[in-house]
Amino acid sequence: MIKLPDYHIHTPFCGHAGGEMEEYVLAARGMGLPEMGFADHLPLFHIEDPTLAMAHSDLPLYIDKVHELQEAHADYPVRLGIEADYISSHLGELAETLALYEFDYVYGSVHFIGGWGIDQSRFKFEFERRDINEVYESYFGLVMAAARTGLFDVMTHLDVVKKYGHRPTVDMKPLFNEVASTLAKSNVAIELNASGLSRPVGEIYPSLEILEIMHAHGVPITFGSDAHKPSQVGREFDKLLKLALSAGYTDYVGFAGRERIPRPLPASVD
Ligand SMILES: [Zn+2]
Ligand SMILES: [Zn+2]
Repeated sequence: MIKLPDYHIHTPFCGHAGGEMEEYVLAARGMGLPEMGFADHLPLFHIEDPTLAMAHSDLPLYIDKVHELQEAHADYPVRLGIEADYISSHLGELAETLALYEFDYVYGSVHFIGGWGIDQSRFKFEFERRDINEVYESYFGLVMAAARTGLFDVMTHLDVVKKYGHRPTVDMKPLFNEVASTLAKSNVAIELNASGLSRPVGEIYPSLEILEIMHAHGVPITFGSDAHKPSQVGREFDKLLKLALSAGYTDYVGFAGRERIPRPLPASVD
């Protein structure tokens, strides 16, 4: 087993994950992961959909439950994270909500281009109606805008726009370089996310191409399974580590109280 923290773990509060929260902690401990962190979906401000994110009334319950598990597992680091959507029209509410709690880290995600939920299969048809290169431009434009807000510590599933296998038809290197330099300047890390391996695209988020560019710009990395079931904790971490090493990374970061804790990567997957 690969000794890396899994920082991207969901809970039943979001309406589309199973198991009990403690089962995720026990799974991480059982696998020998050095620590774990919950990063469930923060309530959305622009729409109400109980299948996408926790309800506003559930946020304090989520926080309490993580604190409870931290006490119950005092000898094991259980981090309090959150996955928050970047929605440009609701940044004030987002900032106010994030300021209410002492998170160890805040993951930022772009799941929406305007009103279009790009990673929802029910809206997949929209990819056929749009120019794919423009979709990539818009998507990564939002990622950069998110990074510049200073509200997020880590951008998660950085190239989730590829989820259903839609690929740009032009060279995106200039755009990826711009994204990397924006993340570096904004002090935002990225996550190696295993969930893409089980999606139609069948790849880690982000691709090796993007990860090499991130490494060249000095953007730090974290690791996440994006578990929505206890059995998914730590999934495919050998592949995540392999990708990180092949992109040239020798370190990753942990977080506590929204401060980065740099750590060396294991030198090999064995
Ligand atoms: Zn989810
Ligand atoms: Zn997400």
